[in-house]
Amino acid sequence: MAKSQTLHIDILEALLAGHQQAFDALAELLAEENKHTNLTRITDPQQVRIRHFLDSLAVLPILDAMAAGRERFSVVDVGSGAGFPSLPLAIVRPGWQFVSIEATGKKVHFQQKVAAQLGLKTLTVLHGRAEDVAHEPHYRQQFDAALARAVADLRVLAEISLGLVKVGGAMLAFKGPDSDLECTAAEKSIATLGGKLSHTYSYTLPGVTDAFRLIEIRKISPTPDEYPRSYSLITRKPPHE
Ligand code: SAM
Repeated sequence: MAKSQTLHIDILEALLAGHQQAFDALAELLAEENKHTNLTRITDPQQVRIRHFLDSLAVLPILDAMAAGRERFSVVDVGSGAGFPSLPLAIVRPGWQFVSIEATGKKVHFQQKVAAQLGLKTLTVLHGRAEDVAHEPHYRQQFDAALARAVADLRVLAEISLGLVKVGGAMLAFKGPDSDLECTAAEKSIATLGGKLSHTYSYTLPGVTDAFRLIEIRKISPTPDEYPRSYSLITRKPPHE
């Protein structure tokens, strides 16, 4: 049974304000690109700040605790879209290493443009599918943390992400309030892939009624070489069947 905790993210507003120039530049680039490329449905500047920037940073208290005392800390963002959560995190934690994996070329191009313009030298943006990247020796089981926001059902997400995480690291999935069934349905698959559901963290965003959740899966043993499978197999049946 995963432990439940509440995250207090009020402090992150100040962190965001402390990097105002970079976040303003990111908001501007996003608004400009979104005029001709469909990157996000959220266009109101205040909502972009809350639902993209602040929400991306919500995972920071957990990552900061994991990174404490480490010289090097690496994060992979699976299915990063227009760069969330990786871009906001790379802005506020320039000492960490980030790899962002995204399957759609125009979104990759946008992230690369932002990274170049904001001088985010520790962010590498890869055009590809996480289930392929997870088999590349350079990336396999190399990351302290894998993050994924709004990408797939937890069972599918676990298979495309856990092969990227080191033993001792964790995967953190951004989810809505109704994720209990998803967690239960994914538990066996997670165990097959070398993980264990360890925590669920709840948090709220300013002006948003629903609570959000971060689901933490700890990597407790190596992912067997055959995983992840092809995406069609992953979606068709769980790994333990
Ligand atoms: N994480 C971003 C966010 O929260 O704004 C993007 C969310 S968007 C709904 C999901 C993204 O995941 C899409 O851009 C899609 O191309 C990407 N994606 C889905 N499956 C993927 C996979 N297996 N490997 C890489 N990218 C994937």
